[in-house]
Amino acid sequence: MAENLNPFEIVQQQISEAAKYLNLDPAIEAVLREPKRVLTVTFPVKMDDGTTRVFTGIRAQHNDAIGPYKGGIRFHPDVTVDEVKALAMWMTFKCGVVGLPYGGGKGGVICNPKELSQGELERISRGYIEGIAAIIGPDQDIPAPDVYTNAQIMAWMMDEYSRLQGTNQFGVMTGKPIIVGGSLGRDKATAQGCVFVVIKAAEKLGLDLNGATVAIQGYGNAGSQAAFLLDKLGCKVVAVSDSRGGIYNEEGLELEALYQHKTATRSCINFPGSQPLTNAELLELPVDILIPAALENQITAENAARVKARIVAEAANGPTTPEASRILYENGTTVIPDILANAGGVTVSYFEWVQNLMNYYWSEEEVYEKLQVNMFKAFAQVYATSQEHQVDLRTAAFIVAIKRVADAIKIRGIV
Ligand code: NAD
Repeated sequence: MAENLNPFEIVQQQISEAAKYLNLDPAIEAVLREPKRVLTVTFPVKMDDGTTRVFTGIRAQHNDAIGPYKGGIRFHPDVTVDEVKALAMWMTFKCGVVGLPYGGGKGGVICNPKELSQGELERISRGYIEGIAAIIGPDQDIPAPDVYTNAQIMAWMMDEYSRLQGTNQFGVMTGKPIIVGGSLGRDKATAQGCVFVVIKAAEKLGLDLNGATVAIQGYGNAGSQAAFLLDKLGCKVVAVSDSRGGIYNEEGLELEALYQHKTATRSCINFPGSQPLTNAELLELPVDILIPAALENQITAENAARVKARIVAEAANGPTTPEASRILYENGTTVIPDILANAGGVTVSYFEWVQNLMNYYWSEEEVYEKLQVNMFKAFAQVYATSQEHQVDLRTAAFIVAIKRVADAIKIRGIV
């Protein structure tokens, strides 16, 4: 039977799985299985050729029992309500697992940014924010960048919200440029957070990072930064890939030269001194650490048994299917789940929001020190929970996160 890859149904399954270990009140489980609010808006946008097109945007808000909703906005032609709902739910649990005072939200606009000019992108950004302005705000829901949105788009969105309010509202969005309230360190935060939890997982396994081999699928923002950070710790990055294919060098890749090659050619392929390999082959290399940092559903029931890495650190969201997770756990692979492994990004987004509210800004060192404290603490809690219940780290991460949210729901008297 084909695996179920509907993200909304997957997250509901993950909630039910963790609920069993918490003896969760069925009413709380019922609350958590659905988002609290999903708003769909349509808005007209004047295109460069003089025509007007109507775009559709979505904002889903899952749960705000422990704080305002938080989560990115993606611009993509395949955005669906189910996908946005699922991503909002994962954000609740991602914030919960690292102990941030936030609930989960997510947004999307159905559009193809590759076909849009800068002017059209700006008008879409402003039109979408006008549509959802009534339900966002620094105390209510704080969006951020996601697939195909960036710091410039956050600046336009923050500006549009500020314009509608009649006063500067830097705290409404995170992932902004530094000059308008962005945080130092945000660009490397996801990779840095991922590396902090890899350090702790390696300690638990008695794996010496000095000389440990690494393969990274998705040599983009998170993947390329993770490569540099692991290299600094003495690891040997032997393979990386992007949408055009992968490269391999048993002796380790020369990362500075690779970064320049990628910048010049826009791909890692054809890097001098490396052998080509496919994305599928990369996942099955005999390495110590595998970092999926590209797309969802890469490790599936079909290839999971051939994964040889001792640690799989999910920098990407949803790279491993539920069935593959089960196979990896049975084979003794340590999978650091996405809601923990890539939570460095939202943690530094939280730091950005705190700095905006205080109007006082930290150095990059302060940001990383605080991030390290958060990530080490979250890993320790998830690891201890996995030992206590004899479950994989993913189920343990959901147990930690759901318990936090459930306690808040209970103590507030919502259920
Ligand atoms: P990015 O766009 O910078 O990089 C993605 C990389 O994946 C690119 O190099 C792209 O070529 C590659 N890729 C695309 N299709 C591929 C395929 N079929 N096989 C192999 N590689 C492929 O994005 P990013 O910001 O680095 O995000 C990567 C993942 O990390 C995503 O799943 C994202 O949701 C997740 N994530 C990112 C952040 C963040 O702060 N950047 C935070 C949390 C989670």
